[in-house]
Amino acid sequence: MAKVAVKLVSWDEIADWARDLSSKILESGWRPDVVMAIARGGYVPARLVCDNLGVMDLVSVQVVHWPSTAQAIERAFIKHEAKVDSLAGKRVLVIDDIVDTGDSISLAKEYAEKAGAGEVRSAALQWISTVAKFKPDYYSINVTDWKWFVYPWNVTEDVTNFMKRIIMEEGASKNRWGFTELVSKMREWYGDEIMKVPLSYISKALINLEQMGLIERSSNGAEYVVKGK
Ligand code: ADP
Repeated sequence: MAKVAVKLVSWDEIADWARDLSSKILESGWRPDVVMAIARGGYVPARLVCDNLGVMDLVSVQVVHWPSTAQAIERAFIKHEAKVDSLAGKRVLVIDDIVDTGDSISLAKEYAEKAGAGEVRSAALQWISTVAKFKPDYYSINVTDWKWFVYPWNVTEDVTNFMKRIIMEEGASKNRWGFTELVSKMREWYGDEIMKVPLSYISKALINLEQMGLIERSSNGAEYVVKGK
């Protein structure tokens, strides 16, 4: 059994979900004047929805998560603001890729309302109904089993993070890894699904970890050595 449930999402699935989401918006009889993408995950979905609905005005806001200094919990906050004057009095559709906790999308919705939007509705390709504190007005897929979805615009970053987690957590007992050992560890942690990722992404993830200073190549180049161990 894998430690982390992962699902790779294809570009075709993204296009299908965005079309389905757009049809639901159209069928509701509501048409946004402005689409507001939540960076970074909402960019591609928002652009596809603009295409499907024929919306010309696309703005974005970036929400990031940060552990608050006072508490041990994560707090979402706005890092990059939207162009506020373009929202005044408008029907605004806030879009993200997935609603997991619900913090990002509810914060972005509140932000658009405070910025003077006429009416704000929310949409996401996927809604994890079993954990989210917030239900978007529109969604395509209702996810009931929590998973980490590896979206096609995010593969290198996700594989880098997966690899980083393995190296950090297994680092106490093992500090030298061969490439194939790392690949089988990936499979052990993230299941057969992760093996659908081309090996070139795994090589790139290792280059990223080298650049972050977490690992280095052994002198003969055959192994990756965890630094500081
Ligand atoms: P929201 O507030 O919309 O629920 P979160 O704040 O939980 O989203 O997460 C912020 C971003 O992190 C999401 O927009 C998405 O890009 C990414 N993310 C969160 N959960 C998942 C998941 N289960 N699979 C893939 N990406 C995720």
